[in-house]
Amino acid sequence: MESLNSILAELRGNRSALFSFFSMMPKGGDLHHHYSGSIYAESYIAYVIEKNYYINTETLEVVKELPTPVAATLPEWQRFSKLENLEQVKLRMLRKWSDKDFTKGVESNDEHFFATFPSFSVASKENYVEGLIELKKRALNQRISYIETIFISLDLKTITVPNEAQYDQVMLYCQRLENKALLTSVLDELVERHEFDIQKVADKHNEMVKQLHTVSKMDDASFIMRYQNYAARFRQPTDMFIELLACFYSAAQSPLIVGVNIVAAENGEVAMRDYWLHMQFYAYLEAKYKGVQYAIHAGELTTGMVQPEKLGRHIRDAITIAKPTRIGHAVDIIYDNEFTSTIELLKEKDVVIEINLSSNEFILGVANDMHPVELYYKNGIPIVICTDDEGVLRSSITEQYVILAHRYKFTYDQIKELVINSIRRSFIKEDTIKDQLEDSVKKGFVDFEQKIINHYMALVFEAPANPQLTAAFTEKAVNGNGANRPKLKLTNFAL
Ligand SMILES: [Zn+2]
Repeated sequence: MESLNSILAELRGNRSALFSFFSMMPKGGDLHHHYSGSIYAESYIAYVIEKNYYINTETLEVVKELPTPVAATLPEWQRFSKLENLEQVKLRMLRKWSDKDFTKGVESNDEHFFATFPSFSVASKENYVEGLIELKKRALNQRISYIETIFISLDLKTITVPNEAQYDQVMLYCQRLENKALLTSVLDELVERHEFDIQKVADKHNEMVKQLHTVSKMDDASFIMRYQNYAARFRQPTDMFIELLACFYSAAQSPLIVGVNIVAAENGEVAMRDYWLHMQFYAYLEAKYKGVQYAIHAGELTTGMVQPEKLGRHIRDAITIAKPTRIGHAVDIIYDNEFTSTIELLKEKDVVIEINLSSNEFILGVANDMHPVELYYKNGIPIVICTDDEGVLRSSITEQYVILAHRYKFTYDQIKELVINSIRRSFIKEDTIKDQLEDSVKKGFVDFEQKIINHYMALVFEAPANPQLTAAFTEKAVNGNGANRPKLKLTNFAL
């Protein structure tokens, strides 16, 4: 809609105007979204206080039961109800369990970010119903109608693999020689020996997800929630493969679990060492479970995190070996010494890039002209705008669109295209649900555009000479020099 393009172009330099614009705009889906990192720390803190768990007032570790009998005699271990300075402790917890007030010092940004997850896991691994309800409430507030959340890891503690260390060694040997044939035979053997037990675990997991989904009343006319399974890339090869195998089997069986992902710090020692193996695992499982959709966190790296020769390879390896339909982050493509061919490959294979602007800025320090979002978009690679971990990052989907429009000059029509992508490129299994979501987002845009033209413009623009506000905001009026050209009431702070 051309007049909306003109209006957004005028608002671009003023973030308060952009926030007010994007708060109202329908935003479709959030496709790169971690459940536990999306709950705000306030909720976790309220939960452990309500349960009256124990806290170590020095380290801020929270536990259900005291770790040792000796701990009962130590003054630093207290039940929350016994704390005299609860408000102060809450504030310290908020800072430890999220990026609130974070300043780089002893800890780096990425260390602080990844350390929040084990800190709040005492709360995030319980109370899923309330967590899901919080996410839905926020989604509706933010005009999001679909979330695809990376949800609960499969509970594989009952699966034991005899000779696990030997399997690990053989797989590492395969990786050193890039011997796919030998690796395949090892994986075949693991599948044959453990598939039955893994399927039992996965069936239980699927039942639990279904129950949580139903009890928390996720789906209705205004909102749909779907889930991804995940494996943690810091695990040793055998554990990692077993976890991914369980993820794929589970996703193949459940209508609610629509995809598989791989998570945790990509610059971790094991994650870097075993990247080739992980891509081979995906390729193997894709062939075994045809039709299971998956995304990969790849290229969440930047200069200074790893040695230069280790940058710029993961995205290419992901597309050529694992062949995901979506890639999360993908910011290290700028270091790819085969940059042009990787871009061509992404385009050719129609791979969607999940863009996480606030996350990349906090964890990697990648923002502004260091972020490749425009390189992707302007070269015809589909992108979607996502939050990643809005709780830990203390961000929101609205903020992601504000940053996008403020920094990168996307037009309104282009932004609408990204919103539609966020439904079309979701892993939702039922086409009818996808179509309904797309229809309702499109209807939402019609209402939104009318609201902007009929009510909003008068709030941020000086009244034009022509009293017909709508007519005044045609492309000609906004771009021309005539008396009808509307003037923004607000100061332009464009970068
Ligand atoms: Zn992520």
